[in-house]
Amino acid sequence: MSVERTLTIIKPDAVQASHVGDIVKMFEAGGFKIIAARLVRLTKRKAEGFYAVHRARPFFESLTEFMSSGPALAMVLEGENAIAHLREVMGSTDPAQAAAGTIRKLYAQNIERNAVHGSDGPETAAFEISYFFPGIELT
Ligand code: GDP
Repeated sequence: MSVERTLTIIKPDAVQASHVGDIVKMFEAGGFKIIAARLVRLTKRKAEGFYAVHRARPFFESLTEFMSSGPALAMVLEGENAIAHLREVMGSTDPAQAAAGTIRKLYAQNIERNAVHGSDGPETAAFEISYFFPGIELT
């Protein structure tokens, strides 16, 4: 176990549906400390850079349109095993597969408009944190 930092984004669907407070409450109840937060309106280009690993996927265009469709809340969360722990609290990508009580089970609309993002490993966490919070210390 080690203290880690991870990046989360409360996505435009959840901001639009006024679920920010409920989702932040779940982060805090899950033991995460909020290290940084920024309400952002991504440009299409910034969304494409963020999801560059998915460039070849059939849903890339739709995903980056969605992610740039309205305000989103980017946050750095810290805690023991924060990267894996956040993935558990979020639930599966597809809300139909997500476990009961997870953020996506509660608030996602579908596999694309799925309420939250969470980094999937230490290297992506480092890239994603610096993508939104350049200059922040990583640990
Ligand atoms: P995550 O790590 O759980 O967010 O999932 P991925 O890294 O696989 O995908 C990134 C994001 O792309 C997801 O959170 C969804 O918003 C979107 N996405 C993933 N799979 C699909 C899909 O099959 N169709 C569509 N339309 N969007 C998807």
